[in-house]
Amino acid sequence: MIPYWLSEAHEPPPAVALDGPPDVVVVGAGVTGCAAALRLAHAGMRVRLCDAREVAGGASGRNGGFALRGAPAPFDVTAASVGEESARAIWAWSERAIDRIEELAGDAFRRVGSLRLAVDEEERDELRSEYDALVGAGFAAEWLDDLAPPLAGRFTAAIRHVPDGVLQPARWVRRLARLAAEAGVEIREHARVTSLDELEGATVVVCSDGYPSGLLGPIEGLIIPTRGQVIATEPIPERLFQVPHYGRHGFDYWHQAEDGRVVAGGFRDVSLFSEFTADEHTTDVVQDALSSFVNGLVGRELRVDYRWAGIFGLVMDFLPVVGAVPGLDRVWVAGGYSGHGNVLGLACGELVARAVAGEDDPLLPLFDPGRLLGAGA
Ligand SMILES: Cc1cc2nc3c(=O)[nH]c(=O)nc-3n(C[C@H](O)[C@H](O)[C@H](O)COP(=O)(O)OP(=O)(O)OC[C@H]3O[C@@H](n4cnc5c(N)ncnc54)[C@H](O)[C@@H]3O)c2cc1C
Repeated sequence: MIPYWLSEAHEPPPAVALDGPPDVVVVGAGVTGCAAALRLAHAGMRVRLCDAREVAGGASGRNGGFALRGAPAPFDVTAASVGEESARAIWAWSERAIDRIEELAGDAFRRVGSLRLAVDEEERDELRSEYDALVGAGFAAEWLDDLAPPLAGRFTAAIRHVPDGVLQPARWVRRLARLAAEAGVEIREHARVTSLDELEGATVVVCSDGYPSGLLGPIEGLIIPTRGQVIATEPIPERLFQVPHYGRHGFDYWHQAEDGRVVAGGFRDVSLFSEFTADEHTTDVVQDALSSFVNGLVGRELRVDYRWAGIFGLVMDFLPVVGAVPGLDRVWVAGGYSGHGNVLGLACGELVARAVAGEDDPLLPLFDPGRLLGAGA
């Protein structure tokens, strides 16, 4: 079934023909590839952006729509693994990326904050530890003990992450693609790149996150394809979930779209191992868990109008993978956001483009693709 976000009517991006062979071919027209292509075009390069499907046809048009700051693991956990200074740098950089989304996305983005919820005392302690660390490091966050219905009684506490927001992700990425085309990027949809040899000697930037591209040589498969499933219900009149809500370590996430539909995703943990796949089908066990959860929250049975799945790329250390691919000449990668790629995709697309253009950045060693092979950090 077509994901709810992708079902929205849209104009294709303007057709552009390059006046010579491309300097750079970007593979994957999701948020990362569109951001990278736009940045490379602004740097004066001739850029071709190819996707096996259409713009936003991958996870970028199939996700929950949450635009969250930071890395996939909470701030305190990330600080414990990479150090406080690096964690602060990642959080500040991601907040700047949300500012950029707000600048570029128009009505595809609403800056409403987000709620990370605790289902039990153990998770409450984890939230408290993240909250204390965030506030101690100077980041905006609010602690909520008293939750209103329908959250009261189900969740014990929450953090409001003030700078976050919510996207109509397909509308956002289609807009980004249009900006890229207007900056001179040639976009080729339904054009799978099957081999590096066909790319006329251009520099290549692979932005396929969890979708196996076949182009990543020694690190192919090390960004692990992982399936996420989502439902969108019939529209309901009451506004219960204006902001993105997520709990159980991100295994449940939901909010209401502009038209009142409840969009809910997650529940991978009801069938964890079968969700390590690049197969984009939905399954009854996860879909049933999603609709029972939403019915329980809302207090009545809702019709499900849309069901879909998408693939994201999981990396075991929960840091993105950005940089030159080890062992390959002029091949770069940006991806591996572990289900947290709406903001990181924009930031990492821009980061990889700057790296291709020869700019250094203190975050690049942290995100070094070589670490997937046991080299690097
Ligand atoms: C169900 C689900 C829910 C999610 N929810 C959230 C959320 O709420 N918030 C959040 O921040 N993140 C979320 N994510 C993660 C987020 O959607 C992704 O990390 C992000 O969209 C990745 O963007 P991308 O541009 O890197 O890759 P994608 O958008 O996945 O695009 C990759 C593209 O590469 C193309 N491709 C692959 N190989 C080739 C090839 N050889 N030639 C040509 N094209 C190729 C594919 O066709 C695809 O279109 C979710 C992911 C899923 C699946």
